[in-house]
This record gives sequence, structure tokens and C-alpha cells, in this order.
Amino acid sequence: MTYVWQALVANFAVVALVTSIWSQMLGWLYDQSPMRRRAALGLLVGLGAAATIAMSVEVSPGVFFDLRSGLLTLGAFFGGPVVALIATVIAVAYRAFEGGAGVVVGTANLVAAALIGLGVRRLSAASGPNIRCILLLGVAMVALIWASIMLLPAEAQARALAGFALPTSVMSFLATITMGLTVLHAGVIARERSILHAALEQSPDFQYIKDTSSVFVAANRAVARHNGFNEPGELVGKSDFDLYPPERAQQLFEQEQVILQTGQASNDIEEVVKDAQGVEHNYRTSKAPLRDHENRIIGLAGVTVETTMFKQLEHELVESRDMLATALAEMSDGLAMFDANGFMLFCNDQYRDAFPLTAHLRRPGVHIRQILQAVVDTGEQVQLPVSGEKAWVDYASNQLKQANVEEIELFNGRHLQLRNRPAPDGRSLVLVSDATELKVAERALIAANASLETLASVDDLTGLFNRRVFDETLARELSRSVRANSHLSLLMVDVDRFKAYNDTYGHQSGDRCLKTVAGSIKSSMRRFSDMASRYGGEEFAIILPETDEDGAYFMGDALRKAIRDEAIPHSASEKGVVTVSVGLAHYGPNSNSRAAAELIGRADEALYSAKAAGRDRVMGWTQVSPLH
Ligand code: GH3
Ligand code: MG
Ligand code: MG
Repeated sequence: MTYVWQALVANFAVVALVTSIWSQMLGWLYDQSPMRRRAALGLLVGLGAAATIAMSVEVSPGVFFDLRSGLLTLGAFFGGPVVALIATVIAVAYRAFEGGAGVVVGTANLVAAALIGLGVRRLSAASGPNIRCILLLGVAMVALIWASIMLLPAEAQARALAGFALPTSVMSFLATITMGLTVLHAGVIARERSILHAALEQSPDFQYIKDTSSVFVAANRAVARHNGFNEPGELVGKSDFDLYPPERAQQLFEQEQVILQTGQASNDIEEVVKDAQGVEHNYRTSKAPLRDHENRIIGLAGVTVETTMFKQLEHELVESRDMLATALAEMSDGLAMFDANGFMLFCNDQYRDAFPLTAHLRRPGVHIRQILQAVVDTGEQVQLPVSGEKAWVDYASNQLKQANVEEIELFNGRHLQLRNRPAPDGRSLVLVSDATELKVAERALIAANASLETLASVDDLTGLFNRRVFDETLARELSRSVRANSHLSLLMVDVDRFKAYNDTYGHQSGDRCLKTVAGSIKSSMRRFSDMASRYGGEEFAIILPETDEDGAYFMGDALRKAIRDEAIPHSASEKGVVTVSVGLAHYGPNSNSRAAAELIGRADEALYSAKAAGRDRVMGWTQVSPLH
């Protein structure tokens, strides 16, 4: 009996040794390729199983009891099919080499152990290895021993049941559980280490750990590369004195000694360091003391980040901000920006100055509606709808969302042009320019145009319409009278003996006389549509729309009398005063064809008749002129 336990304890020692090597190897295994990892583990487990077989208890000749199955099943469980295969092949080969009566059962036992390991691995694929799986494997191994015993030849079976079955079961169970839990735990630690290692290794920042003499204990790849090494390990044992010029190294050493002696971390120290090419780099470094369990300082951990790019960006940002601020301050237009909800983000002074009554509200954070309401309340903008102020505030605040140009007039007579430019992100820009000068110029231009128009249509001397307007008006009235089949009359007025007047009183007096005559003609006009013009020289033409012959005669005679009543002395005239003769032509509803030249010709003929008949009279055109 003692022999059995001794053998099994020796077996257990082999298992423990394999487990220990396995656990130690895990860290190394993590860094290997999958194939190498599997091959190494398979080899270890296989050799371990072979070793246990070598140290087994011989139940009867050729029948061995040992703890090999636990090793194999765990190898399969943790390592997978390839590990299981390699280990099984080695173990089976060794078992075959040992030979004996139990070789078949022994081989079957090895294969079964591997398959059980793979089966439980499969079952726990989703959750990963855990304590329950290990327990299951332990129980399975006990069951496997009992199944093997059952398969043994009768004599060997009897011996096994008598003295070996129980100790082997207990030891196998314990060995499987102990080994399984150890590997499980070692796996967790190895994984954590691997993650930490990767995190340190792959961090783009410089990370390093130094001992109390400022000698590198560990550093990541970034630090190694920065200092011209391929592997972080090459830095271990070196100090800054091996890396930097003495002055710089001394400076760093002193800084670190302060941290190590005071226990105070130094955070975010900014430095500018020139590299070998003389290019400046910005770094930000934090170093903290490291303490052991008894709170003794055992070294320091440092992180250095290169901030050159940030510094450059920061510099560019400040520069572009300055430029923008200058542009905003120097531009002639006012500028404001509103966010998507209508709150002002910023504005320049020109924008504020453009609105004297609401300037105090035009500042960041104020809502456009509040500003517009103040515009209403103060009467800053004129021509707002008196009854619909709220609707106007709605309308004007919505304008922010549209690209448009609007012109407004303020209480102080200034005209502003507002240009809204909505941005795709919902913000909007408002540009304000003073359009007052433009407006004044525009008005002056309109006025100038209007007076030019008047100049072009009015006769200088008399203020009556000129010949051009007469021609246009006659043509228009003629077509209108054709359409309406209405009356249209024309009076031709000619000053009598005017040549003699000029000769007697001089040309300037002649001009004054013409003005007086024109004034009389103007005040003789009855209707809005009556139109008097200077036809040429001392001759005037009067268009009388919708006026029949009698009416026209009445009009002509009235103005003849009016001029005579002015009693402008005219010694060279047989009348003694300035008089006019009037010729009248007319188209009535019965006139089939109407033409301006014809009407003017007839009025001229009638005027000629009036002259011939003794002047100072009105005569109408008749079919057969008295002269013909
Ligand atoms: P009649 O009674 O037959 O019309 O005699 P008249 O002298 O008026 O005849 P006529 O039509 O030949 O003379 C017109 C004169 O009117 C000739 C011209 O010197 C003068 N006259 C024409 N235009 C002007 C003007 O703008 N100013 C002045 N002062 N005289 C003008
Ligand atoms: Mg004349
Ligand atoms: Mg005349």
C-alpha cells in the first residue's frame, strides 16, 4: 500500500513539475506563433505523460497505474486538438514501448482522456475555461480509471480493485484539479500581463520606469526607438547619462532625484528640446514616484508626450484668430453670426454701431427675437407694419434662415443693406452695410432723370409741352378716338402780326409777349386731357380729345378773348393790342379715316382762312376752303 502511495506521490510530483513548467511558459507562449505554441505545449504534455507512465505503479505484470490521463485531458482541454494529438502520440508511443498486458487498455485510456479534454473544451467554447470545467475533468478522470479497471483482465482487475483503485482515483482527481486550477490561474495572469505589456509596448507616448538611481528598469518601444535602440530591453540598465549630453542628463537626474526624495510627482512639465538636426521639439512630461508595499519609494514612472504638433496648431490657431479679429474689426461692414436657434454668437463693433437704439442688445447670447422686439419698441426701424408687429418679428427672425438682401431705413434717416447668408450647419451670417450715401445718390439720380425728362418734353420759353410731345400725344389721341369712335378736335393758334411786334418792340419783348400768350392758353384749358403745346415760333397747337366742333370753337374763342383781354399793346397791329387767330379742325364719329397730318393740315388751312378773314377770330375747316 505504502508503495502505491509513494509511487502516486512521485507521479504527482511529475504532474506538478509539468504544471509548473507550463505555467512559467505561458508568458513566453503568448508571444509565439499559434503553431509553435501548440507544438511546445503538445511536447510538454506528451513528455509529462510519458514521465508519469515511466514512474507508474505496476498493478500486475504489464498493467500500470499512474496520473497520465489528467495531464493529457488538461493538455487537450487548454491546448485544443493539435496539442491533444501531439501529446497523445508521444504518450501512446511510450506506453507501447513499455508493452505488457495493459497496453490496449492503457492506449484506450490515453485516447479517451484526450477526447474527454476536447469534449469539455467544446462544451465550454462560449464561456471559456472555468472551474466547473476543471471539476468535470477531474470527475471524468476518476470515471476513466474505473472504466479502465473494468476492462482489465480478471486477475489484474481484482488486484486493482483490492489496492490501487481508490488511491489512484483520489490522486488522479486531485492532480487534475490542482493542475487545472494552476494553469487556469496562470492563464489569467499571463493574459493580463500580455495586455499590460501590449499597452505599454504599443503606446505612442514615451513610458518608462527607473530605479532610485534614475537607471532604466523598463521602457516601451517608443522610448527605445527615440534613443536609437531596436528593443526596449536594450535600455534596461542604462541611464540618461548614456543617452544625452552630460548637462542635459544631469538636469534630468536632478529633477528625478527631487521626485524620489520628496515623493512629490511632477506633472505636465513642458520642455523644448533640440534634436540632433537642431529641430525644436515640444514635450510634456509627468513623473511620479513608485512605492512598495511598505510605502518606500523604489523608483519612478514617467510618461512623456511629444506636443510639437499641438503647439504648432495652437500657434496657428492663435494667429488665425488674430487675423480674423483684425479683419472683423477693420472691415467696413457690420457682421454678426447667429447659431441655428437664433442666438447671437458674435458681432463686430460696426454691426453694433449701425443700430444706435438697440446696440446694447446686440451681443453674444441674445436671441434675435429679443433684438427685433427692441427694434419695434424703440422705433429704430421705420416703416414697420403698425398693426402687425408680432408678425413682423416672426417674419424678420425667419429671414435669418434665408439667403437674401434687404434694405431698411432707420429712425435717423440712415439706410442699411442687410445681407443674410445661412450656412449649411444652420448658423447664419448677417452683413450690414450703410447704404445711405447710395440711397441719396439714387434719389438724386431719379430726380435728375425726372428733370431731364421734363426738359425734353417742355418748351423752354413758354413752359408748354414741346412739338415732340405734341406729335406723340396727337398720335395717341388719334388712335384712341378711332377705337372709341369719338370726337377729336385740334386748334392751331397763331399770333397776329408778330413779325411787326418784334420789329416794333424788340425780340425780347416778343419773347415776353409769347410767354403771356402761353399763360393765357394754359389757363384756358378746361379738362385734364386738354393739351396745349408750342408748335413752333409764335404758333401753338391745342389737342382737345372727346371735344366736338362746337366745344372746340367755344374753347378757341375763349382763349382768343383771353389773349385779347391781356391787352398787350401792339401799335403796329390794326387791332392795337396783341391778338391771335385760331384754326379749328375736327374729326367726329362719322370720320372714317383719320390721320395726324391731315388734321394738322386742315387746322392750318382754317387758320389761314381766319387770317384772311381779318385775324383775331376762330375759323373751322370746311370741305371747300374759301381760298380754293
Ligand atoms: P400774321 O399775322 O400773318 O401771322 O403775321 P406775322 O407777322 O405773325 O407773320 P409770320 O408768321 O410771318 O411771322 C412770325 C414771326 O414771329 C417771325 C419771327 O420773327 C417771330 N417769331 C417766331 N418765333 C419767335 C420767338 O420765339 N420770339 C420772338 N420774339 N419772335 C418770334
Ligand atoms: Mg406764324
Ligand atoms: Mg403770326
